[in-house]
Parts: sequence; structure tokens; C-alpha cells
Amino acid sequence: MKKVTLLVLAMALVLSPLFIESSGQQKTAEAGTNYSDVQPSQQDAIQRLSDQNIISGYPDGTFRPNQEVTRAEAVSMLGRVLGFSSSGSSFPDVDSNHYASGHIAGAVEEGIVAGYPDGTFRPTQTVSRAEMAIFLTRGFNLSDEGGEANFWDVYPGVMGASAITDVAEARIAAGYPDGSFKPTRGITRYEFVLFLDRTLHESERTSGNGQSGLQGMQATSAVVNAPAAGALNVRPYPGTDNTPIGRVTHGDEIDYYETIDNWALIDYNGEFGFVSLSYLRSANGSLAGKTIVVDPGHGGHDPGAGAFGIQEKDVVLDTGNYLRPMLEDAGANVIMTRSTDTFVTLNERANIANRQNADAFISIHANAAGSSAAHGTETYWDNSNASAGSQALAASIQRELVAELGTLDRGVKQAGFSVIRRSQMPSVLVELGFVTNQNEANRLNSSGFQQRAAEAITRGTINHFE
Ligand code: ZN
Repeated sequence: MKKVTLLVLAMALVLSPLFIESSGQQKTAEAGTNYSDVQPSQQDAIQRLSDQNIISGYPDGTFRPNQEVTRAEAVSMLGRVLGFSSSGSSFPDVDSNHYASGHIAGAVEEGIVAGYPDGTFRPTQTVSRAEMAIFLTRGFNLSDEGGEANFWDVYPGVMGASAITDVAEARIAAGYPDGSFKPTRGITRYEFVLFLDRTLHESERTSGNGQSGLQGMQATSAVVNAPAAGALNVRPYPGTDNTPIGRVTHGDEIDYYETIDNWALIDYNGEFGFVSLSYLRSANGSLAGKTIVVDPGHGGHDPGAGAFGIQEKDVVLDTGNYLRPMLEDAGANVIMTRSTDTFVTLNERANIANRQNADAFISIHANAAGSSAAHGTETYWDNSNASAGSQALAASIQRELVAELGTLDRGVKQAGFSVIRRSQMPSVLVELGFVTNQNEANRLNSSGFQQRAAEAITRGTINHFE
């Protein structure tokens, strides 16, 4: 049993492409720098580290520079530089005869590398750029000679963030022209050699940290749709646990280049900044450039119609709050006359729309009748102002509502309700259904119905403006 195990191990070592790295005496003579697969541009760094017996190639005469470096390989190279002389192994997946076992044990003792919480070391797992930065900063005292390194994908909470900043400021590893560092990307054997070479030889370090803004990145246009305060914070990195570097204003058109979680990367006066995606709307949706006032009827001490335990003011407020983000997704600037259970006068509702010089005014109501049999959907317009636009918008919304909700089509009607009579832009008042009809009351009270009503109003509005 013992013999078989040893034989298998010996075979594994012979077959291992890295066997030669574990036996220094085999390396120098023929391996030299004449690897069959090393490009001229890769030659210098590989030559220098070969001369110092830090690296070696494979028995077949290759170096495999573009193969991703493994944890065992990286630690083995570091071990040779730093002279680890430990032995044995405390990891179940690193046999004490493994070519890198002594270097792994030494690197763990020195606190340069650690195993995983499950007790393994995972020697064949490839190394990320962040791990490389951690290895180098823990193994060497890096001198900070460059400017301030600031990558948009490196910030508190990203693994290796401070180590990445250190290796970049020491001009050992540069970022990408688009301003990123790509910390989770793997690195090749050649790249690891290059970073190690720069660490050991200051004359080989880069002239800068490689950043040149957001070069080559595709921009998405958006319009700032700021919260009530009228401005939106620009953050140095995603999240709110940081100090804003500035603000953008409601209505500003901006370009963003990347999203991380719910945060959009922007260029803020030459700096990387992040703004919440929730407060951006499309600059090229079909309602881009349109200001639409959404007016949920009644509110506060005015409940509107009521029956079967539901109140009109609640149904129309919920529907309006569903409608808002849908219109915004289509690019509209949406103003709510109310978004909570508050009372707003009829005059003020129209005044809001007139002051904003809105492109459309949509008032949402639910109907009531003496007879519980009355049911269905109807949409009103008034002929005092922008009458042609009002009538067309009413027809467009009514068509989508009855198609979506399957309610009785009671038609498009003219009536001088105060809010649509006073509003100077195309203005409509929708009556979604009857709270006095048991079946419709139940439907009006469901969020599914309210959302579908909002979707129908959105489509009707888009169709009208297209
Ligand atoms: Zn009403």
C-alpha cells in the first residue's frame, strides 16, 4: 500500500509541469531563456528572473507565459525570492511531497498567504490580480513613488483594495486605459513574472499607473431625475457609506459608463463618480424630454368615492405611484401632484402642471354610481385648452386601458372637470372602474390590477406622443 502511494506520487511529480521548478539543479543549463513559446517582448523579465533562479520552465522547453498562474506556482516563485525554508504541510490538498509544499508552508508562516476556511489551500486554483497585489504587498515593502492611484472598480469592500492601490502607486501593476483595475481577473505566468520583476528591480517599474479616464468605454445617456431636494449626490464609489464628491442637478443630462449594483459610473469633472441608478431616466426613451404630471385624485380628508370597504383616494394613489416609474423608464420627467395620502386643491393640481409647462396632465380616478350594476372604464377630456391633444390622448389611453383590463369600454367623453379644464396642456381624467360595483371594487383594490392599469396608461401615453 505504501509503495503504491509513493509510486503514484513520484509519477505525479514527474508528470507535473512544475516538477522542474522544484529541483533547481535541472533548470539553468538548458532551460535558460530560449523557451520556445516566449515572445521577444516577454524575454527581458523572464531572463532576469531565470538568471536569479526564481523561475524556470517546463521539461518540454516551454514557459507557457500565457497560462494562468496558480496559487502553488505564485507562492513557489515568492518562496524562492524570499527564501522560505519551511517544510511539511498542514493542508489536506497539499501533500508534503508537493513541489511547492515548503514554500506554501513558509508563506503561511510569514502571513503572506492563508488557506481557506474549509482548511484547504487549493494549490491549483488560479490567482486573481487582487490576490497578486496582496501577495506582493505582504511579501515586500513597497515604496510609493507614483501619484494617487484611483480605479473605479477598487474601493473599500473590494477584496485587496488597499494592496491594489499600493502596487499601483509603487508602479508595479498598472490599471487599464478605461480607469479600471479588474481585480477579479486572473493573471498569466508571464504577468506574475513581470510584476515580480518590477517589484525586485525598480528600474523596470512603469512610468505611471496606466489610468487615462474612461477611455474607450461605451456611454449611456441619462437625465438626472433627482429626489425632492432637486440634486443628486455624486459618490466616490458605490454605496452611501462615503462622503459625496459633488452633486448633479435635476434635469442635467449625463453619460454613464458602467453599472455596479444599482450605481452608475460617471465622469465627474475628470474624477470617477457614482450616482444612484434609481434617480436616472433614459435620455432617449420614447417620452424623453416630456414632462408629465400624474394626478392621483382626492387624498387626505377627501376620500373620493367609497364602497365595499375601499376608498377611491387609496386606489388612485397606488395606481399613480405605479405609473410614475413606468413613465420615467420611458424617459419622461414625471411630476406627481401627490404621492402620499395628502389633500391638494383642484386649483393647485392644475397650477402644478401649468407652472411646469408640462406636456401632459393625467388625472386618475375611480367611479361611483347609484346602481351597483354600473361598471366599466371611461376617459374624459375638456375642450377649453389644447382640446385636440386632450381628445387624442384620452382616446389613446382609453384604448389601452380597456384592452389591458378587459373592462367595459364606456368610451371617451367630454366634460369640464376642474383639473382638466384649468390645465393648459393636453389633459385627461381616467375613471378606472366603479368602486360601487362589487366585482370592480375587488379588482380596483388589487395591486395587480393597479399595475396593469398603470402599464396601459403608459402605453397609451407613449402611443400618443410617438
Ligand atoms: Zn374621483
